[in-house]
Amino acid sequence: MPTLNPPDSESLVWHNRFATLGEAFFTRLSPTPLPAPYWISHNRALLTELGWPSQGLSTPDALLAFSGCAIPEGAEPLASVYSGHQFGHWAGQLGDGRAISLGEVASALGPQEIQLKGAGPTPYSRRGDGRAVLRSSIREFLCSEAMHGLGVASTRALCLTGSPQPVYREEVETAAVVTRVAPSFVRFGHFEHFAAAGQHAELQTLADHVIRHHLPECTQRAAAGEHQGNIYAVLLQVVCERTAKMLAQWQAVGFCHGVMNTDNMSILGLTLDYGPFQFLDGFNPRHICNHTDTQGRYAYHRQPNVAFWNLHCLAQALSPLINDPDLSLAVLESFKTDFPQALDHAMAQKLGLIGLPGAMDTPHTVRDLTESLLTLMAKEQVDYTVFWRRLSQAVASQSLDKTHPLWQSARDLFLDRAAWDQWQEAYAQALQTGDLMSAGRTMLAHNPKYVLRNHLAEIAIRQAKTGDFSEVHTLLTLLQSPFDEHPEHEAYAQLPPAWASSIEISCSS
Ligand code: AMP
Ligand code: MG
Repeated sequence: MPTLNPPDSESLVWHNRFATLGEAFFTRLSPTPLPAPYWISHNRALLTELGWPSQGLSTPDALLAFSGCAIPEGAEPLASVYSGHQFGHWAGQLGDGRAISLGEVASALGPQEIQLKGAGPTPYSRRGDGRAVLRSSIREFLCSEAMHGLGVASTRALCLTGSPQPVYREEVETAAVVTRVAPSFVRFGHFEHFAAAGQHAELQTLADHVIRHHLPECTQRAAAGEHQGNIYAVLLQVVCERTAKMLAQWQAVGFCHGVMNTDNMSILGLTLDYGPFQFLDGFNPRHICNHTDTQGRYAYHRQPNVAFWNLHCLAQALSPLINDPDLSLAVLESFKTDFPQALDHAMAQKLGLIGLPGAMDTPHTVRDLTESLLTLMAKEQVDYTVFWRRLSQAVASQSLDKTHPLWQSARDLFLDRAAWDQWQEAYAQALQTGDLMSAGRTMLAHNPKYVLRNHLAEIAIRQAKTGDFSEVHTLLTLLQSPFDEHPEHEAYAQLPPAWASSIEISCSS
């Protein structure tokens, strides 16, 4: 495996802190090179945000590095070990079966870990081939950036490379590698791994590592006396808070993750491991996006409860460190108020009621309006994204007259016009106390015009399979600013075509 030597003037500074934890946490290994690697897409916006060398994605060396065919100087490649609960059952040891971490690099956003997903087998691959197919890699590449564009915490994607190497799934596909970037890819499952094995020293090393390098607020909060100064209880608290916020954002934007196993839950509250995810088309709270999830464990409306269940698994794993079962339970209980509060906040933003004098005074206004609206939308499976955008435009018109064409266009989405009129009246009453211009602005900044609907990803994937990546580029640019109008891309904001509902996405990737 060749080592790449970047020019001195613009080299990356590596801090491989995870690699210092010791052999219990990972296996050092190199990626397995793919034949004839090629570029699919670059995320130049992320490169700029990170402040990494501007030529970093355009050199032949970069192609070799990001396809796992060469190792950049300073990198210390490794695959980490974790365990987890899958579909509610203890699955035992899992681990990075196809993601290889190169190490952590200094950036304008702080040190960032770089992972190559699909870079070849590892000791944790079990029966898998260590590869990721082009189809699922395009989905992960685009969706992680789409989530970031929506303001939802997520791992990021720097670039996407491909190879003609055949990969065998339900059919023969080809290989790709997503270069993922995040401050850390540590999962709930990493903690579960050491707890289950009774390796309490390693459990503590991992918790201390996460606190020190990624969640330093735990130290300050514990020092200020929170949870009797029990720093591991504060760690659990911080993870609960971040997870509550992330889940509220998922629900608000209509995102279904699809595989909320504990090994897919980030300790930093980042959306992680994009598989059979889906943004809702028609609003159906019971929607199951993962074709393999026959019981609907991970249906849209169950996601917050599953997150709570997963946090219990994390609390259980941290119990040797917290050493106070009542305290752990008390921390977990906070999710029951934090999540609804975060959701109310997100829905108030979607409804434009944040900051409106009077509207938030009646504590149940937002919740009542949201619940009655969602019930109505569910009854008719009204398109989630189109509806919220039309509502935003109606309010931004600064008129509350329901005969206004923009109000009519929201109304047109409902068959039960009487029910809609009743809801619209209650909503108009809540709005009329305030500044409609500012409410409209808030709504247009919180109700995206563009989300990565399944059929949009599918069209980009079909084209990419013919060697044309232009749709991937278009979607990347569009989804990085999903609240902007982009009038030239109106078609991407339309209702999904009839064939969209027949797309079946499974765990196979
Ligand atoms: P996921 O359902 O993608 O979160 O994966 C669950 C576990 O299976 C993780 O440990 C993955 O690393 C591993 N895995 C998934 N696909 C593959 C593959 N093709 N080769 C090796 N390991 C895999
Ligand atoms: Mg996973």
